[in-house]
Amino acid sequence: MTQAAESAGIVGRGNNDGARLFRQWFEELAAAAESGRPAAYVFVMGSLGELLRAFDLPMVFPEINSLQTAVRRTAHEYLNEAEDYGYSPDVCGYVKADVATQLRGGVLPMGRIPKPAIAVYTNACNTYVKWAEIWERMYGIPVFTLDVPGTRAAGTQTWPGDPDFEHDRRYVEAQLRELIPLLERVSGVKFDVDRLREAMGHANALGRGWKRVLALNASRPSLFNALTDGTIYLGVANGFRGAPEGAAYFTDLVEEMEVKSARGIGTLTDEQYRLLFVGVPCYPIFRRFSELFTEHGGTFVGSTYLHFASGGANLGYEYDLARPLESLAEGVLIGVRDAMDAMFHQTPVLLRMLDDLGADGVVYHPIKSCRTVSTGLADSRRALLAARDVPSLFIESDMMDRRVVSEAQLKNRIDAFFEGLASRRAQAAGRSTVPPRATAAQPTA
Ligand code: SF4
Repeated sequence: MTQAAESAGIVGRGNNDGARLFRQWFEELAAAAESGRPAAYVFVMGSLGELLRAFDLPMVFPEINSLQTAVRRTAHEYLNEAEDYGYSPDVCGYVKADVATQLRGGVLPMGRIPKPAIAVYTNACNTYVKWAEIWERMYGIPVFTLDVPGTRAAGTQTWPGDPDFEHDRRYVEAQLRELIPLLERVSGVKFDVDRLREAMGHANALGRGWKRVLALNASRPSLFNALTDGTIYLGVANGFRGAPEGAAYFTDLVEEMEVKSARGIGTLTDEQYRLLFVGVPCYPIFRRFSELFTEHGGTFVGSTYLHFASGGANLGYEYDLARPLESLAEGVLIGVRDAMDAMFHQTPVLLRMLDDLGADGVVYHPIKSCRTVSTGLADSRRALLAARDVPSLFIESDMMDRRVVSEAQLKNRIDAFFEGLASRRAQAAGRSTVPPRATAAQPTA
């Protein structure tokens, strides 16, 4: 980091502002809980934040709350409590942490969250539907499933103007029109299309910035670590979607990344290997997991996580404010469908990222308690290797449950992967190789 950039207060601002916005967000949620103000419970893949802001509903993202318990090393307490209550060890860890949170009256390490007045979610993950039923039973609240048609097979998406796309868009729009009176009833606020327009304008700025930030990581050295820094940016992209703070944050973040790119300021001082990450991070040992790679000079320049967990905001789709509801339906369809593609049809996404970001290898990280993201990853890896000669690593752990995270095992596999990368690089340069402990490009799962 240069002196000039430091003193300008630009480099590192995204991480600092992200932490500040998170604190602000949880203070607001705690205040809502204190005053008994109910909230909308939503999920990252299709939060409809733009629409909910028009009804003054505070938004609770249970996935984000749950992962925070793991980052703060308290997840096991929540998981044990939910399992004692009767939930199977196999159930998604985010669900179980949330169940325990509800049993504790909304108490989390970051503060207390309000109770739900409504749950609004998409079909992007089947667990969302069953999860919302838990709140429906606990609180007797209305739940709303927005059914978003997904891609029927890899690479078969249709786009605006295509008759199939227009059918799907109208289907989503009809559901949004049904949701509005329900939100009016729950919130007691009358729908004002201009408030929706305003929120959509902020979402446009956020999406524009997010897309640009992701693309700027093609810089050499790379500007941010998609696994660590990227998760902070992702939290803001979700929690502040449709808010002026979210728009301002991403405008600033683009500026930060452009400054870093122009001055050659990388996330690592000595970047050796540029990697892609597939799956959900290992939150129980979040920093350490990343260090297992950075100690070898490896950093994550991109990840499918930043695509699907931002609900497809990576595409930077911009709403047409002249036709808000039609455009909202179009944006939700394009974004949520892309999020599903980044989970279920990720090979084309990875091939694009390998080229666009100049990556040297791919790390697959299936996790025990999220089948939606993990199922089929071994096959997906085979498909990638059939299409491209690229080193890859397949390591398993969990995003919540420390009982199935073995740091020593992970380290062994990761160390061997880097030996393979070094050997491959030396061979390509025509030099003698380091002992080939690992043939990382061969699928072994
Ligand atoms: S995507 Fe995975 S982690 Fe998220 S709710 Fe679904 S099963 Fe749980």
